[in-house]
Parts: sequence; C-alpha cells; structure tokens
Amino acid sequence: MVREPAETDWRTGWRTGFEHAATVLPGRDVRVLFGAGSLDLVAEEARALGGRALLVAGPHEDHAASVVLQALAGDAAGRLRDVAQHVPVALALAAVQRASADRVGVLVALGGGSATGLAKAVARELHLPVLAVPTTYAGSEMTPVWGLTDASGKTTGRDVTVLPRTVVYDPLLTASLPAALTAASGMNALAHAVESLYAPDRDEATVEVAGRAVTALVRALPVAVHRPADPAGRAEALYGAWLAGWALGSTVTGPHHKLAHVLGGKYGLPHAAVHSALLPHVVGALSAEAGDALAPLAGALGEPPTGLGPALHRFARGLGAPTALAGLGRALGDDDLRSVARVVAGSGVPSPRPLSEEGLLALLRDARAGGQP
Ligand code: NAD
Repeated sequence: MVREPAETDWRTGWRTGFEHAATVLPGRDVRVLFGAGSLDLVAEEARALGGRALLVAGPHEDHAASVVLQALAGDAAGRLRDVAQHVPVALALAAVQRASADRVGVLVALGGGSATGLAKAVARELHLPVLAVPTTYAGSEMTPVWGLTDASGKTTGRDVTVLPRTVVYDPLLTASLPAALTAASGMNALAHAVESLYAPDRDEATVEVAGRAVTALVRALPVAVHRPADPAGRAEALYGAWLAGWALGSTVTGPHHKLAHVLGGKYGLPHAAVHSALLPHVVGALSAEAGDALAPLAGALGEPPTGLGPALHRFARGLGAPTALAGLGRALGDDDLRSVARVVAGSGVPSPRPLSEEGLLALLRDARAGGQP
C-alpha cells in the first residue's frame, strides 16, 4: 500500500528547505520522492540509476533544466528541448538516435506528459531507465503505458520497460502552471482515478488509492487554480495526481480513455483539455451502471451517484477547465465524431455498460457542445 506522505510532513518546506517522502510502491518497482525542493535530489538519483544522463525537458522548464544539468556536471549528456504531445514518431526516432550516439545510461524526463512520453519512447527502444520529474498532473510517470503517433493516429501499449524507476515530485515546479493548465491537467488526473474506480480489474488497493486521489484532487484543485501560490493546494493536487497515475497504471482503461486517445491522436487536440471536456459526459452515461463503484467520487463532490455527470460539469466550470470539445483545436464535424464513435465502439474496451456507436456519437455531440450532461 502507498505510504501516507503526511507521515513525513510532505506539506511543509515550501520555499524554505524541504521534507521529502521516499516511497517504494509494493508490486511496482518505482522509487518516489515527494517534497518541495526535491528537484535538488534529481542529479544524485540519476547517478544512482547509472551512467550519463540525457535530460528531456521542454522550453517551459529552462530554469529547472539548468539546475539539473549543473548538478549533473560531467554526468550530463545534454538536453532534448523539443517535446510534443502524443509523441510524434519522427521526434521519437531522433531522440533514440541521439541517446544511442551519446551512450546515454539514464533518461531524465522533466516536464509534463509530453516529456515523460518522449523519454518512454527512447526507453522502450534502448531499454534505458527513466527518472521522471513531473510538472503537470498528467500521471504518465506512474504508468507502464507508452504512446506514439503517426499520420494514421495514436498507438499505445504497456511495457514495464518504460515505467520510470524513480519519480521525483517537487510541488514547487507546478507553481508556474497557469490556471487554465492547472484546471485541465487536474481534470485529466481526476479522469484517471475515476476510470480506475470502475475498472473491471480493480481490487482493494486500487480502489483505496483511486478514492484517495479523488478526495485529494476535488479538495485541492480549486485551491491550486484560485490560489496558485498556496503551497498546501499545490502539494495536495500533485499528491492526488500521483495516486491517480498509480491507479491508472494498475487497472485497465475504459471508454473514457479510449475516446480521449482516439480524439487526441487523430485530430491533434490537447490531451488534458479533451479529458476535461469528456469526463462529465462519460460519467453521466455510466454512473447508473457503475453504481457503488463511484461512491468515492460522489462522496468527494457531495452528490448522489445519479447526479455525478452534472456535478463534474459544475466542478470543471468552477475551475475554468474546458467543458466543450468545440474550440479546443481542429473543428470536429459529425463525420469526425462518427469515425471516433465507430473506433471506440469496436475496440472492445471494458465498460460498466456497453456503449454503442450511436450512443457514443450522441455523447460526443454533447461533449462537443459542452452543455451540462
Ligand atoms: P504537456 O506535457 O504537453 O504540457 C502541457 C503544456 O504545459 C505544455 O505547453 C508545457 O510546456 C506546459 N507546462 C508543463 N509544465 C508546466 C509548468 N510547470 N509550468 C508552466 N507550463 C508548463 O501535457 P500534459 O497534459 O502534461 O501531458 C500530455 C501528454 O502526456 C499526452 O501526450 C498524453 O497522451 C500523455 N499522457 C500519457 C500517459 C501515460 O500513462 N502514458 C498519461 C497521461 C498523459
């Protein structure tokens, strides 16, 4: 079971020194360090994984990247600064060549799910360990799931090789997340926990962890969005994202993730925003059949299970998170939505109730419009 970070004063130390929790999740060989200021531990942790470190960090992380590169000193093999959502194949190939040519021994992913995703793509090819330092609530650092995108769409798979060996959560790094990204990424994390709650292979541990994630996220996200510099809100939101990612990686995903992946991969839509717009509608469609499984969400939102779709919609609106697919990027016509509905209906993903192509099309139309489910 996950050791409760509160035992190690994980909320303290904002800006002045740090306390950190080092946790190994049983059954998952992932070492987790959580605490404000723990960025300072990254170089040492990378050395412990071995060899020269290649840093994968997008442009928004220039400052933190320079801190890590400086601390790595002679053990640094440089930095990949070009990252993109859904990991385009060409980007992955170039990164593999670079890591191979530079005789890299460990990949350090510093950033959101895009940086983690690129590091995973390299790890999968070269069997290198990954150290992840997340700066969003995407949760990819806790899963063995990889993804690659080409012109035909997105391919995902599970491979324990890509599961990061060490994860360093430093809530200080999330302080710069703008409100809109905090809200959308937070809804993405909430979706991970929710879909884990009704997964057919859930067990006592995943239900407990996903329930704790939901509680933490529902409590902390309004604080992180509306009082972004509040250390407790930032720390608890990141803690919720950690547990949600753990739950996501420990259970199979269902219709919500399948819809998000097909939409995001095929039409290049922003990942977290798509999750945010879809979640109220998917939960609205499934809550009756999911029944008691969604009790932790009902408890956190203070709503009966039957009202969870509208309650999630209100929650997202309160955060200023996206509630409509329309306006997220490429305009989606009815033909686009039907093609997504067909792929998802035919995919055989487990669901509390089977969703037909027509049912999914209606759901997608509602999510495109963005009204209350
Ligand atoms: P992202 O990594 O692309 O980040 C979103 C935006 O936020 C970017 O513009 C980035 O520059 C900016 N950003 C990130 N951290 C910041 C910070 N602290 N301050 C300011 N700006 C910051 O997007 P994401 O939503 O984190 O991740 C999405 C990607 O991750 C998708 O490709 C998705 O498929 C993948 N993902 C994979 C898994 C998995 O288990 N494999 C899980 C979740 C997401």
